[in-house]
Amino acid sequence: MTNLKFDVLIIGSGLAGMTLALHLAEKKKVGLITKRDLLEGSSSYAQGGIAAVLDTSDSIEEHIHDTLVAGAGLCNEDTTRFIVENSKDAIDWLVDLGVPFTRDDSHQTGFHLTREGGHSHRRIIHAADATGAAVTSTLGQKIKAHPNITLLEDYIAIDLITSRKLGLEGKRCFGVYALDKIGDHVITIAANQTILASGGAGKVYLYTTNPDTATGDGIAMGWRAGCRVGNMEFIQFHPTCLYHPHSKSFLISEAVRGEGGILRLPDGTRFMPHHDERAELAPRDVVARAIDFEMKKHGLDCVYLDISYKPASFIQEHFPNIYAHCLELGIDITQQPIPVVPAAHYTCGGLVTDLKGRTDVEGLYAVGEVACTGLHGANRLASNSLLECMIIGKAAASDILASKPVKLPAMPDWDDSQVTDPDEEVVISHNWDELRRAMWDYVGIVRTNKRLERALNRIKLLSEEINEFYSNFHITNDLIELRNLVQTAELIVRSALLRKESRGLHFSRDYPETLPQASETVLTPTE
Ligand SMILES: Cc1cc2nc3c(=O)[nH]c(=O)nc-3n(C[C@H](O)[C@H](O)[C@H](O)COP(=O)(O)OP(=O)(O)OC[C@H]3O[C@@H](n4cnc5c(N)ncnc54)[C@H](O)[C@@H]3O)c2cc1C
Repeated sequence: MTNLKFDVLIIGSGLAGMTLALHLAEKKKVGLITKRDLLEGSSSYAQGGIAAVLDTSDSIEEHIHDTLVAGAGLCNEDTTRFIVENSKDAIDWLVDLGVPFTRDDSHQTGFHLTREGGHSHRRIIHAADATGAAVTSTLGQKIKAHPNITLLEDYIAIDLITSRKLGLEGKRCFGVYALDKIGDHVITIAANQTILASGGAGKVYLYTTNPDTATGDGIAMGWRAGCRVGNMEFIQFHPTCLYHPHSKSFLISEAVRGEGGILRLPDGTRFMPHHDERAELAPRDVVARAIDFEMKKHGLDCVYLDISYKPASFIQEHFPNIYAHCLELGIDITQQPIPVVPAAHYTCGGLVTDLKGRTDVEGLYAVGEVACTGLHGANRLASNSLLECMIIGKAAASDILASKPVKLPAMPDWDDSQVTDPDEEVVISHNWDELRRAMWDYVGIVRTNKRLERALNRIKLLSEEINEFYSNFHITNDLIELRNLVQTAELIVRSALLRKESRGLHFSRDYPETLPQASETVLTPTE
């Protein structure tokens, strides 16, 4: 068995993990583990950009106001203020590190700022339509070059090592067990502070814009370690993800609807005007709900987004990436409509933390999409999430730098003496598909008590089977992820069942009204 020890261990190499690593590395020995490549995670796929108050005609109060409106009464105002007030500093930091944001020399900031749905100003700084990739590749180079950062790619964290697990007093985290996927063995990694920067849980749904890494690992690990979760029922769905067997997670930008794209049923009937007077230009959640309604009503696999009536040159000029990607799959969008489905896009809830990223377990932090700081409330304002990764990441780093190291206890090696090789791996792939399908059908965009209860029953059965598998067989990447997916699914359903109203992203047919008083859904693990 290999054992490693760092001052600080970071699990996940998205923008949250990278921010922490770079802020800590001057003074601490940092271990950064990531279950695939350094650059694989939602951060690299972010297209639109990062919201920040940069323009002098914009104001902190307006950005806060827009965030609170989107959050439908559930945002934490202190958190929102803290993040928005620090937004300019975070962008300055990225610019200093060399992130190539799109420039506009005629603008007072020197950068081109765009505007997105829900924002009252142009305040989204971006690098063309691939902001995330520009940010993570720039920061990734610094990470690789830093002598105090040990990067371990293809290591997947399995579970946190806590005082409870070690039979000690208190509620503290001392590190993690992780599977070295290449070497195929489990190692123990000890650290004074452990940070969950493991992203969201979009893969819990059949259709998602998220990369394969988004399996809720951090949420599930934190929950098992004794952390509360908040607002897990609020899952943001993007209305139009390409539906094609050979294309996973490809977004069809909202700009296609903005430029006149029409949503149609397979027989060509336009349906959005029956749902909302703004038709295709209604907000994201309204369009997603309408598509979901039509798909369920007619038993469809997808609907169609049609921009083919515009001149081919217009389409090719405005949507070069979408045009090229669809054409590769045999869909010429200048001639035919694009098959689309709504898809899980962002996990608004997560492990409950304070403004320094601290969870309920001492020595354990959660930063980025894995966390629930209160910024997103019941619906995330576009482009606020990358901002949150950086600001809470920096605050967590400051807290860690100010804290005193503890004496780490002896930690036992991972014990796999009682397990054997799995006899039937098909159980894992079958359960994986069943879970994601059940979540899509019963815990999607429109919910009912009956559907949620049906999902919970399925999840309980799946959970029993997966836990039995986990106890008896050698651990694999897929088994670790499936165990976490099913745990996260259960937290989403239990939270949804507790909300007796419709608010923000949570819409229940049994409770269509919004209650006058907004309250958070917080689940506490039993000891
Ligand atoms: C298609 C798309 C477009 C988006 N566009 C925008 C946008 O324009 N603006 C915006 O603000 N937000 C956008 N978002 C949301 C935003 O990208 C994410 O919320 C944000 O990147 C989350 O960052 P993170 O660091 O928390 O997680 P991620 O970037 O997802 O990183 C998580 C990391 O953890 C690793 N990991 C997970 N589990 C484990 C484990 N068990 N062991 C080891 N490593 C693990 C993963 O491999 C990965 O490296 C978009 C999201 C998507 C999917």
